[in-house]
Amino acid sequence: MRDRFGFLSAVVALMLSAGSAASGAPSGSDAGGAATEAATTTAPATVSSPPARPDAAGAGTAAPRVAVTLFKNVRIFDGKAEKLSGPSNVMVRKNIIERISSETIQSPADANVTVIDGGGRTLMPGLIDAHWHTMLVRPTAAQMLSADLGYTTLLAGAEATDTLMRGFTTVRDLGGPAFALRRAIDEGVLPGPRIFPSGALLTVTGGHGDFRQLFEVPRIDGMPLARMEQLGAAIVTDSADEVTRRAREQLMQGASQIKLTASGGVASPHSPIDAITFTTAELQAAVKAANDRGTYVAAHAYTPAAIQRAVLAGVQCIEHGQLMDEATAKLMAEKGTWLSIQPFPDEFAHIFPPGSDQSKKMLEVMAGTDRTYQLAKKYHLKTAFGTDIVFAPELAKRQGSLLVGLIRWYTPGEALGMATGANGELLALSGDRSPYRGKLGVVEEGALADLLLVDGNPIADIKLIMDPARNFVVIMKDGKLYKNTLSH
Ligand SMILES: [Zn+2]
Repeated sequence: MRDRFGFLSAVVALMLSAGSAASGAPSGSDAGGAATEAATTTAPATVSSPPARPDAAGAGTAAPRVAVTLFKNVRIFDGKAEKLSGPSNVMVRKNIIERISSETIQSPADANVTVIDGGGRTLMPGLIDAHWHTMLVRPTAAQMLSADLGYTTLLAGAEATDTLMRGFTTVRDLGGPAFALRRAIDEGVLPGPRIFPSGALLTVTGGHGDFRQLFEVPRIDGMPLARMEQLGAAIVTDSADEVTRRAREQLMQGASQIKLTASGGVASPHSPIDAITFTTAELQAAVKAANDRGTYVAAHAYTPAAIQRAVLAGVQCIEHGQLMDEATAKLMAEKGTWLSIQPFPDEFAHIFPPGSDQSKKMLEVMAGTDRTYQLAKKYHLKTAFGTDIVFAPELAKRQGSLLVGLIRWYTPGEALGMATGANGELLALSGDRSPYRGKLGVVEEGALADLLLVDGNPIADIKLIMDPARNFVVIMKDGKLYKNTLSH
């Protein structure tokens, strides 16, 4: 363990320069300073309390003064109501939103207070991406499989910093070896979003996410794991017992939920999209392993048959679902199953060679997107927003634009509510397996202080979200200011 920790420290130390250079963090940010401080600290900081800032006033005294941020004169989008509050003041103590009031809040005398004069701007919860792959955004698929995990972790660290600077303060990671990066971010080693990791996604032989080559089958008992399995990106399971073991392995490493692929997919070479992959017994084994540990299973599934089998086996969140039908939507409504879905950007229609199997699958899914959103609205499905950007660093820069794409079906208030309050409710399904103690996705007293100050009213003009560098003038995560372009 000691060796491992030493190696990790070396890796993340390298990350620091890559991360801050890529993000172009503004001068108002204290992220770089805090990260450097944490990197040179021997004992890791706890998750809930950010590394203490250097405190000149308290130097020489026993207890460092607590950090307080006071937002004055802001209008609040709270992540739920589709309107802004009247002029308000919000006080954050350490990492918690302590007080919200239309009355003046006095600065506490016993704290290090940062005052931010909001000037009537909008304070809203940090954005949440409910379907993200922290480790798979920047590399190509071939690089992910062939490169050293240290290299791809460095890429992911730089991307994580950029993700946070786009205003996404939390991501639910649905497959990939993200445990080490989550730890480093939570220890304050480098800036990045909160990560709810799944670890390796579970698939079956020939299922979505089985990126093995054909020469790697048949697999014989006792053979070494395939490369994608060694990396912790995806793992093949072909019986209920194997599912149990592999699910438990992810949970042991800190998975906050289990991800499996219950139907074929678009990009996978060997999985027809209409294929149902896991058997009911296998699905139930995953659900049991997750439930016994106090959490849940999220299943990638497109077709009615695959979705229904997963839902009936106890899966609590369906990823994608773009080919669902009326009966399936009804079943999900009855069972209270979440739908975590995304409108793929229009250019996806052309990303695969015309006429190829993958191109046909992509077009089928894109055509189903509108129908599925209509069904989700008709049956009031609990609906989450996630982008599912993989192997596409340029597209990641448009993470917020993909959210804005929801206005084809939803009001701006509903779309923003999905990426904040609703996604926060989905994250809460992880219960005590959440790496973070406290409520996410809302601006309310007692919630975790993940906040954006927007230069304008995003409910009146949601397109503000598309240009975070310009329009998010303050980015706070866990009570810590990562960006602050306003003078104190
Ligand atoms: Zn995905």
